[in-house]
Amino acid sequence: MSISTAFQFSHRQHGLKTRVTGEATKAVADSFDVIVIGIGAMGSSACYQLARRGVRVLGLEQFDIPHALGSSHGQSRMIRMAYFEHPDYVPLLQRAYALWDELEQVSGQKLLYRTGGLYMGPRDGEIVGGSLASARRHNLPFESLGSDELRRRFPQFHLPDTWVGVLEPHAGFLLPERVVAAHAEAALRAGAQLHGREMVLDWRADPRGATVRTTRNEYHAGQLIFCGGPWSGKLLRDIGVDLVVTRQVLAWVWPKQPDLFTLDRLPVWAIDHLDGTLHYGFPMMNEVPGFKIAHHGRGAVTDPDRVERDPQPGDEKTFRPILSQILPAADGPLLSMKVCLYTNSPDGHFMIDRHPHHERVTVACGFSGHGFKFASVVGEILADLAMNGRTPLPAAFLGLSRFASKK
Ligand SMILES: Cc1cc2nc3c(=O)[nH]c(=O)nc-3n(C[C@H](O)[C@H](O)[C@H](O)COP(=O)(O)OP(=O)(O)OC[C@H]3O[C@@H](n4cnc5c(N)ncnc54)[C@H](O)[C@@H]3O)c2cc1C
Repeated sequence: MSISTAFQFSHRQHGLKTRVTGEATKAVADSFDVIVIGIGAMGSSACYQLARRGVRVLGLEQFDIPHALGSSHGQSRMIRMAYFEHPDYVPLLQRAYALWDELEQVSGQKLLYRTGGLYMGPRDGEIVGGSLASARRHNLPFESLGSDELRRRFPQFHLPDTWVGVLEPHAGFLLPERVVAAHAEAALRAGAQLHGREMVLDWRADPRGATVRTTRNEYHAGQLIFCGGPWSGKLLRDIGVDLVVTRQVLAWVWPKQPDLFTLDRLPVWAIDHLDGTLHYGFPMMNEVPGFKIAHHGRGAVTDPDRVERDPQPGDEKTFRPILSQILPAADGPLLSMKVCLYTNSPDGHFMIDRHPHHERVTVACGFSGHGFKFASVVGEILADLAMNGRTPLPAAFLGLSRFASKK
């Protein structure tokens, strides 16, 4: 049964104790303090943050934990502090970094590589201008590189003469599959129940609590948290904000001069296209062979249940011209490609808030292709919102009310 059909079906039911099916009357099963729907980047973190507070939490995931069918796979995710998207994100990043350090300790694993970050473009472009604005507002360390110095220190890039660079020491990358697994395991060890391969079919909430029906069971909880990633639009039809899911391509090539692209020579990097999009990439790492590059700009609009997940020959066009024009020493044979999904909010900023119509429901979605680095702190914010109704972290700018005023 589809989520929408099931949702209408469940809305016709009265009372939470029993549900009449065609064959039998089935008793409602387990009860929790909080149910988290979706155990990807944000949901696994929320489960950990709740469980460590002693909250009885159930996490429900439709696929395996972790898996490669949503938004949180592909071996690396960039983390930056001088955030060109908006300086208001910086305090959240500062808390996110502290929580990443903590997760490394709890899991006993390396999850974050600090390589530094190099952002390149015209001086007043979005990436250079925005990164400098955030760094200055929050007193973050950075180096400004003029075009000569940029060419001298980073000969990998063949850039227009007028382009400059910003180099920040705090940037690097996270290992996404390992992070989701580490959050999930830490949550389990702290007492959370996590169920993989159990899809949520429908839910309902009232002022006393919430009920969730899955492919296996029915559960009741005092609070519900939605972390459905690309499926959020299907799960949350009544939040009044359109989410657009897009198909994104990641690629690995074997550079013509591999020594220029190693972990000790290259920071994570991004170049501005002056149209709101950028190309970005990572130094070569042990987990997967080759040099990774991708385009950060909306790909083709898609549906997470019907998307073409197999990379297609035409997908190479999303990055090959940049290799030949700007990174000629990396322009070698293709090794692999992967397809991943963005869930774009109308303004490209995250949506983290209480549900506008259900006081016991909290939502986290619309991460618009830049959310992973925040997953550690998003889990903390969600735990705060679900348990206390508010968070001391400065996350109000990500609330849903910003869209209401535009209608
Ligand atoms: C190609 C690409 C590159 C990116 N690069 C970066 C980067 O460099 N830096 C960065 O910070 N961010 C980056 N991002 C963005 C970041 O990865 C995402 O913002 C983040 O992973 C979103 O996490 P999520 O928890 O919202 O979604 P997901 O991790 O996809 O989790 C959602 C989960 O909900 C589950 N679910 C949905 N519906 C149901 C249901 N009915 N029942 C049960 N379970 C359900 C799904 O199966 C899924 O596991 C990138 C994203 C992509 C696609």
